[in-house]
Amino acid sequence: MNYNELFNMCGLNDEWQAQNKERIEKFLHKIYIRSDKDIEDSVAWAKSQFDFTLQGTRQIMAVIMKESIDYSLADEECEIIINYTRPAMASLSQGFHVWEKRINEELGYKKYYARGTSIVYLMIALGTIFNKANWCIELAEDMGQTAGKGHCSEYQIWEGGLSKGMFPPPTVEVSCGLFCDQAPEVEAMMAEEFSYDIVFTDLPEDHPWDTWPNMDLEAIKYLSANTELVYDHLREKYGFTMSEEDKSQGVMEANKFTNRHFGIAELIATTDGLPVSRADLFLSFITSAIGTYYTEELLEAMKQLEKDVRKRKREGIFVVPPGSPRVYGTFVAVSDMRFYHQCEEAGLHLTHVWFEPVPPEVFNTPPASDIPREQGYEMIFRFQGLGDLCGSSLKQAKYAVEHYKLDGLMIFETMFCRPLCLPAAMIKDYVQKECDNIPVMRLELDAYDSRNYTPEQYRTRLESFAEVLRMRRVMNE
Ligand code: SF4
Repeated sequence: MNYNELFNMCGLNDEWQAQNKERIEKFLHKIYIRSDKDIEDSVAWAKSQFDFTLQGTRQIMAVIMKESIDYSLADEECEIIINYTRPAMASLSQGFHVWEKRINEELGYKKYYARGTSIVYLMIALGTIFNKANWCIELAEDMGQTAGKGHCSEYQIWEGGLSKGMFPPPTVEVSCGLFCDQAPEVEAMMAEEFSYDIVFTDLPEDHPWDTWPNMDLEAIKYLSANTELVYDHLREKYGFTMSEEDKSQGVMEANKFTNRHFGIAELIATTDGLPVSRADLFLSFITSAIGTYYTEELLEAMKQLEKDVRKRKREGIFVVPPGSPRVYGTFVAVSDMRFYHQCEEAGLHLTHVWFEPVPPEVFNTPPASDIPREQGYEMIFRFQGLGDLCGSSLKQAKYAVEHYKLDGLMIFETMFCRPLCLPAAMIKDYVQKECDNIPVMRLELDAYDSRNYTPEQYRTRLESFAEVLRMRRVMNE
């Protein structure tokens, strides 16, 4: 199979391909890319998703592809697979990557695969490069995880992929209940189905209503204590002995990813016009949120993407022209970027996506705990937009609208993800009341499952919304 063009597009050059020939071929076989036609289809699909003329896009995609290959071959290449699954954040999981690197170097061979990135990166590659995400979802439905059972498409992909051997079953899964109950529920079922060990971190997102930015110290301590219990289990059973230095370095690296992405996000939010598609910006968003084993490469890649944005801005190249309506859209697509392109075709400048508007209180509020580890957990809770049982995402939306002088708000109900649906109706009422009845649109969409996505269905609504925002701007002038 001639996959040279595809991997070059994804930032992996001829030399890397030659060195990794056997691994690439095994990987492609595992994910059911088995003919030249499959490769041609993937190239065409990937080009409809991202702008591969951007050097930054290619470099970030290289990290994602390397992570995907590592993960898919982990059962052949490593003895013990420790997965920290979604929705873990980089500040929790980056220590795993630090530890994996250090311990394998000390041992002199790849004994452990220990990452918190695996499932998501492979989902991104399967969805946006190989167009296989929806197939995995269908496989999971055939196995009984039907839509409407309250389990999300993210975990349908995981189950479908496991059933076909695309993903290796882990030795042990650290299941993260950071802000949803669905992931641990499905994980408990799959641990039995695919015979792997599982251990749960239970992270309560139920802070008292309207107390943000002050978070509940009891909840923070609980999270911290039960995460330490998980580490105890990993140490006793699998020799996973992450040191305090590993954890601190992980947090430091996670902070660097976050800072770099927020630098790009601020640039986008304060530019009149959108120089680079939200699809390409998603790559920076997601990698900063979940981290990677390839730390330096990712930091370089993000820096390059920022340069790409600045260059386009300087040269006056925009995917949404200056003067267009500016909108905060609370949606993050993961497996299919077409919706972003459609927003851009309708002339909507998405200044932010979910999680990106960061009110000053997030960093300015003094920590309630004096223990550094707990301060890290506290910060995770203080960022808005998680499960939001404390009203934080309402404040975040108000801040975005007022601070960035936005014309509208698009709230997405990601259909089978309870936590992301939760605040949708409340945000609309709150922001309209607080922000001069600003136009708000609510849309149902799913971050992973695009089977029900029909461009026509959304085009009319997006164009009408953009028109309303333009008219309102004119009237206000
Ligand atoms: S329910 Fe939502 S937050 Fe939880 S794993 Fe699924 S998509 Fe992620």
